[in-house]
Amino acid sequence: MSLKLIFSANADQSDIQLCEDYWAYGHNGRYVEHIETLCRQYSVDYHILFGVLAECQAYLDDVHCEYCGRPYQLDVPADIPYIRKQSSWFCDLCCQIRRPKLGRF
Ligand SMILES: [Zn+2]
Repeated sequence: MSLKLIFSANADQSDIQLCEDYWAYGHNGRYVEHIETLCRQYSVDYHILFGVLAECQAYLDDVHCEYCGRPYQLDVPADIPYIRKQSSWFCDLCCQIRRPKLGRF
């Protein structure tokens, strides 16, 4: 899996570890349980957990926008299998630019 994590400058070692554990979610357990496990493991509440996660951007570097080549930015790990199944993907920006030309609306 080629998941790329980009951390903000204020992320410390334990923040980085937490994000890596979060994105290592294996899709065979329940997402809520995964979150609860991380909260216990790092002794944080949901609020702090998602605050730390917001400091980290996750990209799939094998899925690129067909138009501009930007890697796919993930919101939740559960999206990964769904995104991989798509034959092509366009980023939000390119969708906005291209939509009128495609005449879909
Ligand atoms: Zn694009």
